[in-house]
Amino acid sequence: MASPPPANDRPLLEVRNLTKHFERTRGLLRTVTGTVKAVDDVSFSVQVGETLALVGESGCGKTTTGRCIQRAVEPTSGEVLFSADGADGPVEVTSLGRRELKAVMTQMGMIFQDPYSSLNPRMTIFQTIAEPFVIHRTITRRREMEDRVAELLRMVRLDPVYMSRYPHAFSGGQRQRIAIARALALMPKFIVADEPVSALDVSVQAQILELLQELRESYGFAYLFIAHNLAVVEYFSETVAVMYVGKIVEMTSTRELFTRPKHPYTEALFSAVPKPDPRYRKKRILLTGDIADPADPPTGCYFHPRCRFAQQICKEVEPPLVHVSQDPKNPHFASCHFARELDLTGVG
Ligand code: SF4
Repeated sequence: MASPPPANDRPLLEVRNLTKHFERTRGLLRTVTGTVKAVDDVSFSVQVGETLALVGESGCGKTTTGRCIQRAVEPTSGEVLFSADGADGPVEVTSLGRRELKAVMTQMGMIFQDPYSSLNPRMTIFQTIAEPFVIHRTITRRREMEDRVAELLRMVRLDPVYMSRYPHAFSGGQRQRIAIARALALMPKFIVADEPVSALDVSVQAQILELLQELRESYGFAYLFIAHNLAVVEYFSETVAVMYVGKIVEMTSTRELFTRPKHPYTEALFSAVPKPDPRYRKKRILLTGDIADPADPPTGCYFHPRCRFAQQICKEVEPPLVHVSQDPKNPHFASCHFARELDLTGVG
């Protein structure tokens, strides 16, 4: 079994200026009527063993970002540099041919949101978890596969005796454990976890998060953890990137973001996090209007139609994502013209 890899300064994954545009079409002739900027110039890096959380409302581009990294969706432009085992330096994932991509993908895993649709109901748990061994031909003997599947089931706290059963025999939390076992089958270094607990009962969400955390500590996986709820990522990630209409609008350490948010959108997300103290209700910031249409975003700052601090400049000039912290050891990036002046409320 692999042990946690040593930390080093080179990122495990570096995403540079990633962009994904979809054409919007109309009618039988599929006439192009516009371009949806689902992911727009997104950059970040993930260190070995680190969890970076990508947070934002539905439709902000976080899932598309995760899929572009693994080429489940082809990016329009940008680079994805991955420090794969066996390579002299980082490999550029977006330019790999099919065979090289397949080899690199053995070092990346994916956990999907809905454990009811992500597992094939016609495949037993053994077949589901062993499928990556068959596809990548890493294990060919049945007996060896059974031993490995049993080991993986124990890693996710399930009894191997159930490996001959079908997914319908399991609860939502158990199915997500099976999906995690499958994602771990080839012991990847990097895992995209796309809202892995949002389809589950609140009572089992904490158990799944705890399991993911334990696995990371034991085996040194790095996660890109996609979530729409900031409360979920607080104890799970070292770094948080907040996305709005395809762009990262704020990115810093989790502790810094929760105590000193610098973007009004992040503050509004925090205010929507339920708190046990009823006095906090008065401070809730209700965002008016819908999230902007990525095919026809507003001028200037995309957030200005919903921002309570918007000024004329916000309607005219798009704010760049810049460093806004005084502390060079604690990078804090935000795209807001007034990020250094606003005194926003976190939850720290
Ligand atoms: Fe609000 Fe203006 Fe900052 Fe955009 S740039 S978040 S509209 S204050």
